[in-house]
Amino acid sequence: MGRLEDVIKEVRGAIRNIISSEIDVSDVTMEGPTVVVYTKDIDKFAENPEIVKQIAQTIRKRILIRPDPKIVKPPEVAEDEIRKCIPQDADVREIFFDAENGEVTIEAGNPLKASGANGAIENQIKKATGWVPRIVRAPPIPSKTVEEIRKLLREYDAERKKFLGEVSSRICRLLTKQDKWVRVTSLGGFREVGRSASLLSTPESMVLIDCGLETSSDGNGTPYFYIPEIKNSFSEIDAIVVTHAHLDHCGLVPALYKFGYNGPVYCTPPTRDLMTLLQIDYIRVSQAEGKKPLYESKHIREMLKHTIVLKYGETTDIAPDIRLTFHNAGHILGSAIAHFHIGEGLYNIAFTGDIKFEKTWLFNQAATKFPRLETLVIEATYGGHKDTQPSREEASERLTQIVRETLTKGGKVIIPVFAVGRSQEVMIVLEEKMKIGDIPPVPVYLDGMIYEATGIHTTYPEYLNSQLRQLIIESGENPFLSSVFQKVDSAEKRERILGDVESCIVLATSGMMNGGPIMEYFREWADDGKNTLVFVGYQGEGTLGRRLQKGLKEITLNVKGNPYEVKVEMAIETCEGFSGHSDRTQLLNYIGSLDSRPERVIVGHGEESKCIELASAIYKKYGIETKAPMNLETVRVK
Ligand SMILES: [Zn+2]
Repeated sequence: MGRLEDVIKEVRGAIRNIISSEIDVSDVTMEGPTVVVYTKDIDKFAENPEIVKQIAQTIRKRILIRPDPKIVKPPEVAEDEIRKCIPQDADVREIFFDAENGEVTIEAGNPLKASGANGAIENQIKKATGWVPRIVRAPPIPSKTVEEIRKLLREYDAERKKFLGEVSSRICRLLTKQDKWVRVTSLGGFREVGRSASLLSTPESMVLIDCGLETSSDGNGTPYFYIPEIKNSFSEIDAIVVTHAHLDHCGLVPALYKFGYNGPVYCTPPTRDLMTLLQIDYIRVSQAEGKKPLYESKHIREMLKHTIVLKYGETTDIAPDIRLTFHNAGHILGSAIAHFHIGEGLYNIAFTGDIKFEKTWLFNQAATKFPRLETLVIEATYGGHKDTQPSREEASERLTQIVRETLTKGGKVIIPVFAVGRSQEVMIVLEEKMKIGDIPPVPVYLDGMIYEATGIHTTYPEYLNSQLRQLIIESGENPFLSSVFQKVDSAEKRERILGDVESCIVLATSGMMNGGPIMEYFREWADDGKNTLVFVGYQGEGTLGRRLQKGLKEITLNVKGNPYEVKVEMAIETCEGFSGHSDRTQLLNYIGSLDSRPERVIVGHGEESKCIELASAIYKKYGIETKAPMNLETVRVK
C-alpha cells in the first residue's frame, strides 16, 4: 500500500470518529492538497459548520465537503432545473459549476429574489440537483478574463483531476531525512526592485516564492535559476507560491512550464485572474514593441491548469513538511502574505510580498496576526530614511488640486498607472471629487487593460475593504460604474481622443512608462505647457518615468523602429501617497504591530540603500536580528 493510501486511511478513521453515524459519509479521498469528504447529507454538514472545523483541526488538512456524485445531477441537467426554480425577475445571468467544491455559483441581478424567502429557493435547488448553490450579485462589469478562465478549467476537468492526484501523492510522500534545517535563498528582487524570487528549502522540500520579471530596463531580466539546487531542472520544486499579480512577482511563472516545471502554483482566486490578464498583456506589449516575450499564451494555459487557489486563512499542505496560509497584504486585489509552517512545530516563516499597512480606498490594511512567526521576509520599496509619504487624504487633496488647475486652464491630464491597484484607487478619488464638484466634470478615459482589471475587482468584492464592499454589494452605488469613465477599446477611439481639443483625464498603462498606450498620449501631448503628467506610483530606476521625474526635457523615443524626438513642455508632477507600498513609518509600525514578534527579519524588494537602511532601522528600534541579503545569498534560518 502506498503512502497516500495510508494517509487517506488515517483521515477516514479520524473522520468516522468525529461524525455521528446519523450523518452519511460515502467516501473520503484526497484531491491535490485537499481532503474531500463525499456525503449524501450535505445539508447536515451545512447546518453544523462546527463538525467541519473539528475535522480540519484533528486531521490538520484543508477539507472540502462535497455531495455524493450519486445524488448530483450533471451540469447540463442541473442548469435547466436551477433556471426552473428561480423566478424571472431574479435576473439570472451566469450559472457556473465548480466541480472541485461541489458548488454551483449563480450570478443574479437580484440575488435576494434568487435565494427566495429564508433561502427557500436555495434549498429547493439543493434537493433538485444535489449541488450546493452559491447565489451572488452578478459582477457589474463582466470580466472576459474570468469567463475564459472558467471555460478553460471546465474544458480541462479530467486532466486537472489527474494532476491533482499527482499533487496528493507528492504531498503525502514519506519523509526520508533525519536532518532538520530551513533556509532561504534569494534568487531575485533583493537589493533591487523587480524579478522577485526566493527559494525556501528544507532537507525534504523546495518551494519557490514568487517568480517575477525585471521591471526596469527591457523588462526581460529573470531571477538567478542556475544555482545547484535547481540547475535549470525545475521538476524538483514542490510548489510555486505567488504573493500577488504584479509582473515583478508573477511575470515569469508561465515560462517555468516551458522549462520543465510540472507542479502546482498556489495563489488567491483574484491573483490567478489578474496575473493571467497581466501575463497576456506582457506578451502583447512585448510583441508590439518588437521584443520576443519569454513565453507564449499556451504556457499561460499550462499555468492555469496547474493553479490551485486558496482564500485568505485556508491552511493547506503544499509539501510533506510545509503548510501554507495566505493573509491579506493590503497591496492590490488578492495580494497575500504567505505564511509557512514547517515540520510539526519546527519553524514558521512569512513572506510579505508587497504590503500596505494602512487602510486604503480599496483594501484593509495588511494582516498582523500569525499563530507563530520566527522569520519575516519584508519588502523595502519605501524603506529609506527619507521615505515618508503623505496620508491617503492628503494625497487625494493634492491630486484634486493638480487636476483642477490643469483642467481649468484647458489642459489635459495624463496619469501613468499599473492596470491593477493604483488605477482603481485613482478612479475612486476622481469619481468622488467630481461628484462633490471639486473637479470639473470631464471624461476620464481608461486605456490598456484598466477596465478589464476593474471588472475583476467587481467580481471579487469580498476582497475589497468593508465600505467599498458595502457600496458595491448592498447599496448598489458602484463608483466604478460612474458615467465619467470611458473605456478605450480600439485604436480608432484612441486616435479620436488624441485629436480632441477638449480637456480630459487619461489613465493608461504602463505605470512606469516603459511601453503601453500611455506612450501615445505622452508623445502627442508632451509639447503643450497647458497639459500635466502626474505620477501616482513607484518609478523604477532606469525607467522613462524616473527620468522624467528627475527633469528630463528632451527624449528620443523609438516608434516602430524610427527615432521620434519629444520636447517636454507639459508639467511633470508627482503625487505621493497613492502607493500600494508601505512607507518607512508604516513598515516599522508593521513590525511593531505583529502579534508574535519574529526573531529575525530579512529585507528585500528595494534599492540597495533602502534595504540596508530599513534593516538597520528595524534592528535599532526593536533589537531584532536583520539581514539585507544580496541576490544569490542563502540565509539559514533554522
Ligand atoms: Zn506589487
